[in-house]
Amino acid sequence: MESSENIDESWDCTPEEWNDWQWQLENSITNVEELQEHFDLSDQQAQEIEEATNIFPMSITPYYASLIDFDSEYCPIRLQSIPQKSELEESAYEMSDPLHEEEDSPVPGLTHRYPDRVLLLVTNKCSMFCRHCTRKRKVGDSQQKVDLEQIKTGIEYIKDNPQIRDVLLSGGDPLLLDLDVLEEIIVELKEISHVDVVRIGSRVPVVLPQRIDDELISMLKKYSPIWINTHFNHKKELTTTAKKALDRLADNGFPLGNQTVLLRNVNDCPLVMKELMHELVKNRIRPYYLYQCDLSRGIEHFRTSISAGIEIMESLIGHTSGFAVPRYVVDAPGGGGKIPVTPNYVVSSSRQKTVLRNYEGNIVVYTEPEIKSDECPEECNVCTEIEEKADNGETVEPQGVQKLLSEENDEISL
Ligand SMILES: *Cc1c(COP(=O)(O)O)cnc(C)c1O
Ligand code: SF4
Repeated sequence: MESSENIDESWDCTPEEWNDWQWQLENSITNVEELQEHFDLSDQQAQEIEEATNIFPMSITPYYASLIDFDSEYCPIRLQSIPQKSELEESAYEMSDPLHEEEDSPVPGLTHRYPDRVLLLVTNKCSMFCRHCTRKRKVGDSQQKVDLEQIKTGIEYIKDNPQIRDVLLSGGDPLLLDLDVLEEIIVELKEISHVDVVRIGSRVPVVLPQRIDDELISMLKKYSPIWINTHFNHKKELTTTAKKALDRLADNGFPLGNQTVLLRNVNDCPLVMKELMHELVKNRIRPYYLYQCDLSRGIEHFRTSISAGIEIMESLIGHTSGFAVPRYVVDAPGGGGKIPVTPNYVVSSSRQKTVLRNYEGNIVVYTEPEIKSDECPEECNVCTEIEEKADNGETVEPQGVQKLLSEENDEISL
């Protein structure tokens, strides 16, 4: 039996129940009355939450709710889980599908935005409704069910497109699927010879760590490697229970990454962010992305300026371990994919020299080499092999700016 140190006393349950992920899901807080059983709400608070819930539903696992410090208005757990009246405010910039995930979708539930990898939605179910969710509109919507048939159509698309070598399972939360369904999807993907990478994006380790049980681990382990990307936004979420789940994943060989969303009052501070990154690394999670908040409906109050993100990156790069530094990205509004943003380190450059500055602000000069010839070594034929594969549709030709730079290119703009 697992330790019961985190059981909240306002829940009348046994430790076995508390540690059972199904119990956690069944007992999720989904309305104001249930919320009031665990927290003292004023009438006005109750009314505001009710109104917000009418637009974006609420769902909080007892475990995640037990981490809320309700006396603190800026409790990061509270801000991510309890509806606020600011969600009702409309913003002039919001969009319902800011990333054009639907436009880049050749078949329903599959987004093919990048040449060699796709995002496959396998469920709309989530273990919690995050107040900052970009896909908020879809997540709580029972009309928008993802069925097995749709997933199979997605898998067929992947089969038919040999340039796809990386499949990201997303949702909703893929780790909430029935294990036999999830297994079937993974088996089918792993059978496709051109698919090298299967990864799962999940918030389960954060809001429902009980789900990382022996059954799940032993099923996933059969198909190793499977990359798992979690979604921790604050150090407070790395509890003893969450750490145990992460240990299980790491001990069983799953490479772990994390994507954090930059959220106002939750983690938009260099110190808070550095603490989170260090805590992730201590738990064998490699920080992967730091996302600028999208222009979705109802999350305007979570947005920060891009300069807030740049300041955070300035405080991380060089100041801490390279692998504790995520890549900061803006997911292009209108659907251009993730655009990396960093502080500037190149100060200037001439044909002979490039002037750079380091994290301390010291300016240095790198002298460029005198290149007499930039021809490739005679015996190398990697590029001709790649061209042949591109002709067979197995790989892709250079695109975008990369194409403009290539020697064969004679176009002058994109
Ligand atoms: C983020 C994303 C991916 C994966 O991108 P990586 O940079 O390889 O992690 C793939 N497809 C879509 C639509 C995405 O948004
Ligand atoms: S778990 Fe992910 S998809 Fe689900 S509500 Fe949270 S952010 Fe949205």
